[in-house]
Amino acid sequence: MQAEINIGMLGHVDHGKTTLTSALTGKWTDTHSEEIKRGISIRLGYADFKVFRCPKCGKFSMSEECSCGGKGELLRKISIIDAPGHETLMTAVIAASNILDGALFLIAANEQCPQPQTIEHLIVLQSMGVKSVIVVQTKIDLVTKEKAIENYRQIKAFLKGTVVETAPIIPVSAHYHLNLDELVKRIEMTIKTPERDESAKLRIYISRSFDVNRPGAEMKKLKGGVLGGSIIQGVLKKGEKIEIRPGVVKKAGGAPIPILSEAQSIMEESESLDAARPGGLIAIGTTLDPSLTKSDALVGSMVGRPGEMPDALSSIKVKYEMLKRTDLEIAPLRDGEPIVVNVHTATGVGVINGLAKGIVTVVLKKPMVAEKGGRVALSKRVGQRWRLAAWGMVV
Ligand code: GDP
Ligand code: ZN
Repeated sequence: MQAEINIGMLGHVDHGKTTLTSALTGKWTDTHSEEIKRGISIRLGYADFKVFRCPKCGKFSMSEECSCGGKGELLRKISIIDAPGHETLMTAVIAASNILDGALFLIAANEQCPQPQTIEHLIVLQSMGVKSVIVVQTKIDLVTKEKAIENYRQIKAFLKGTVVETAPIIPVSAHYHLNLDELVKRIEMTIKTPERDESAKLRIYISRSFDVNRPGAEMKKLKGGVLGGSIIQGVLKKGEKIEIRPGVVKKAGGAPIPILSEAQSIMEESESLDAARPGGLIAIGTTLDPSLTKSDALVGSMVGRPGEMPDALSSIKVKYEMLKRTDLEIAPLRDGEPIVVNVHTATGVGVINGLAKGIVTVVLKKPMVAEKGGRVALSKRVGQRWRLAAWGMVV
């Protein structure tokens, strides 16, 4: 069984995103890398869990055995997407909003609401049009009943007049696994699996790539390169021919050459699939020379069927809006300024060459693949770091 939906985790630092992800899925999302620390690339952490409902008592759970002694029925599998750090989280949510079916918005019960990043993440949720949101009041074990109610009122007041005004607010303690059954029930009710258009052109965003062979492996036992990513639309079947863009650049400054290959195997976590649809993170075993895929070399690529792929862009036009940040003043974009463009899983570095009527043109150092309508995060240099400055859509 493949995960059917992706749910993003949002909320102020230390409000319990990683702990709740672990309480739901039993896994810690591991998303550390040098690039993340430098603040340019984003890497999404995925962790799946299964939802069961007990036919005897009606309770929802992440495990088959129910506390009443009954045996739960499997409803579906859900993938949680987490990203480390405030800056990368916001960038990731904007750039990946096309793959999110909903979000959990975490607010800690033991702090005043709102905290600075609570405000920023709400702005991101509003701008991205993530439709189904559940507010999770976390760390409920740290406060008295009266404090919890007071905090609930603060949350209600804070959400008034926003897109999530009517979102359910579910109190939980991830540490003590309190009320997670109610949270799971709300997820089932609020974040439904959307209708997927199976005839749509296949689009897969690659978020990791590997060489799975151990050093010294025998030549005839070598496995082809592996690609990890999310299907955004369409269906990928085992054995199908695939095309990877932009592809390989043979000489510096030259046009990239698309890569042709075949999906020899498809996995989700430890399960092998004959066909994969949107939802969760899949791994595709290809016929490629693993030297092409090792060490995340193909991250940011798009995969589809040969003949159905968009061309790589050497410059990109984005209809954008500046992001209102609470932590720092961001100057407007300037012509000639260097800028980082994140769209789906791709990161591009470029220079602004044209600003008019809310549309920025960025000339990219290396070509990237992005389709019209794709959500974009733009970061500019502030001091020594790249800071998220604007968001928008490819036009
Ligand atoms: P993140 O930055 O949003 O991912 O937050 P973390 O999941 O790393 O949690 C921040 C801190 O809060 C950690 O020390 C957790 O152990 C603690 N924490 C998270 N959830 C709970 C909870 O339900 N109860 C209590 N008491 N502490 C929690
Ligand atoms: Zn039961």
